[in-house]
Amino acid sequence: MNDVATSRIYYTKPSITTLEIGYATDAASNGWGERCYDYIHRFEAMFRQHLGVKHAIATSSATGALHIGMAAMGISVGDEVVLGDINWIASAAPIIHLGAKPVLVDVLADSWCLDPAAVEAAITPRTKAILAVHLYGNLCELDTLREIGRRHGVPVIEDAAEAIGSVWHGHRAGSMGIFGAFSFHGTKTVTTGEGGIFVTNDDTLYEKALTLSNHGRARGEARQFWPETIGFKYKMSNLQAAIGCGQIERIEELIAGKRRVYEYYHNALRNLPLRMNPEAPGTINGYWMPTIVVDDNVSFDRAALLDAFKADNIDGRVFFWPLSSLPSFKPHPEHVVSHSLSDRAMNLPSYHDMTDEEQDRVIACVRRLLVPES
Ligand SMILES: *Cc1c(COP(=O)(O)O)cnc(C)c1O
Repeated sequence: MNDVATSRIYYTKPSITTLEIGYATDAASNGWGERCYDYIHRFEAMFRQHLGVKHAIATSSATGALHIGMAAMGISVGDEVVLGDINWIASAAPIIHLGAKPVLVDVLADSWCLDPAAVEAAITPRTKAILAVHLYGNLCELDTLREIGRRHGVPVIEDAAEAIGSVWHGHRAGSMGIFGAFSFHGTKTVTTGEGGIFVTNDDTLYEKALTLSNHGRARGEARQFWPETIGFKYKMSNLQAAIGCGQIERIEELIAGKRRVYEYYHNALRNLPLRMNPEAPGTINGYWMPTIVVDDNVSFDRAALLDAFKADNIDGRVFFWPLSSLPSFKPHPEHVVSHSLSDRAMNLPSYHDMTDEEQDRVIACVRRLLVPES
């Protein structure tokens, strides 16, 4: 029995069709030996074309893509990388693995992404990059950040793991920084189970990243098993890439599904004292995670909303914590926007084929909590 009134609502799940299953089956049957890279190369070519970039390297995760990219930039011990305080740990961990220091700054209240003024104030002679993370599909102020970067000689990296489908004034998120990283984890808009991709328009950076991604073996090296440096092993498998090829063929449909789910929530919740993911003029939001931020002047009990979800068999998903509130980081209570977001915001369940009835159950929980008399 799968009664729509009580069935479990996951916070997200992938959309897999016979197309992906067919490619995965073919990869499992035939994608070995001299064909063991076929789907990987096809996936990279499709993604390059989707994004409008010159180079792409499929990886085992976005974390790996960020690690390789930052290593290729030469980021190392003593260097600093500026990023938003409210973020998933995956954006910060590669910086620390390279021996560099993540410098956390507060975010903007409307976009939940880097505050450019705070970024500029945080730049020092050791700053090697600004890491622009497009949170939940929302876009960073890329023009301002790149202008600040140009003035200080500091490149902007885009962590676009959550920004499939997001577009900044005609350019896809992830295509505008010195490099971009995407995730194809099972919760993301496009999935390969686990997976990621490194993208760039910079020929030199691409060659360095390619060598690092292949255990330090340079393209064109005639000797077998001859690494010229110590690299990484963060490759995507042909099997995963096969699923990815099916997903990229369907990417417009996958993005449209996420946008449809957001619009339905946005419309139903528009009269409540809350804000949702913004879509600034000239931009498109891929809406990876529809998110509510309850207004400051309204009392909001996040635990009560989580309980209400749980009682109706709905997965509740809290907004990220400020990284500075985690045990591995120095506290920054002065980052008031980041702390307020983590107290007052929640992600709402969303998957590409979520039904109106399922969304109505989520909406009813939010309404009950925020409009007690309704
Ligand atoms: C999911 C995510 C990552 C990490 O992706 P993995 O593929 O799990 O390594 C990095 N950055 C952001 C912003 C993410 O949402």
